[in-house]
Amino acid sequence: MSSHIPKVATLVLIACWLAQPAGGYVAKRRRPVSRPASLDVVPNAEVDARVADEVVKARQILEDLTTSNVLASPYLVSAFYYHDGFLDDFPADRSSAAPERRIIAQISNLLTSGAKARFVQLLHEIWSRSGAPGPQRYVKPVAYLAVSGRRSHRYAIDLFAPEGTPVIAVSRGVVVLADRDWIPENLFSTTSRKGGNAVIVFDPDRDRFYRYCHLNSVKVSSGDLVAAGERLGDVGHSGLNASQAGHGRHLHFEINEYSDGQVRALSYQRLRVTLRGWRSSSSPGDGTGGLQAAPPQRAGPLPIYGVRAKLKTPPFPARTTYCVPPTM
Ligand SMILES: [Zn+2]
Repeated sequence: MSSHIPKVATLVLIACWLAQPAGGYVAKRRRPVSRPASLDVVPNAEVDARVADEVVKARQILEDLTTSNVLASPYLVSAFYYHDGFLDDFPADRSSAAPERRIIAQISNLLTSGAKARFVQLLHEIWSRSGAPGPQRYVKPVAYLAVSGRRSHRYAIDLFAPEGTPVIAVSRGVVVLADRDWIPENLFSTTSRKGGNAVIVFDPDRDRFYRYCHLNSVKVSSGDLVAAGERLGDVGHSGLNASQAGHGRHLHFEINEYSDGQVRALSYQRLRVTLRGWRSSSSPGDGTGGLQAAPPQRAGPLPIYGVRAKLKTPPFPARTTYCVPPTM
């Protein structure tokens, strides 16, 4: 008898629901759930062929790596840039996996510590052949209103700012990657569908790479030499996760550091500390050539969004994971 009770209860509930007048049921408004956009694709021969082509191209470049070709393949540059632990998550062989990640994973399997050392050496050569565009100094990458909490990223930080706010080079250096053509439907429009339009700058003074993601527009090209404070682009919402409803309006920022044949990522905590030590891009006399950042919308010290303080009128919905670890 007791086994019939759940069935009867279910029937009663269904009957009650059906008995409601039209329009009587009002769904509760739910908080939008932040889920990572799927990077997987339907396997097909065309994608496989493109993946194979890009890997062959990178392999050919690696056979004779010079200052002329070191930046020719953005996928090869990405493979050099990503830290080793991060690449462990990139599937090399699964045909339904994100094609750009397959390419980078397969290329990374070709890279030795010697190849990474050669890559950095060539970047130094490119740098030293041209006059350095400005002194060594460090500035914040954007005039941000708030920063993400530690749970958002392990090796990156999200800096919240209105779209269109200038994104600037934190140091002088060489632009090694400038993805500017992000199209959501195009699997190969950028080297990271999560990051969208992105710029990576190599800092020859500290052997560091700075990565700026989700840009709206990109003002520099691969191979350009930039000064600290030079405009790289604008805050946008390109990239699969940043383009979702409620996302965007932030700069995803990473620092990866080269040392002894390895690339290591700075942790979220180190990024926070590092940013604190850099000057604001809008500081007087910072040498940005008159670059004006977006006008501040709040006086006083910057709030630490979701960690130490909350804005009275948050410009961004609370408790939203803007980017999905470990990147973008
Ligand atoms: Zn992010």
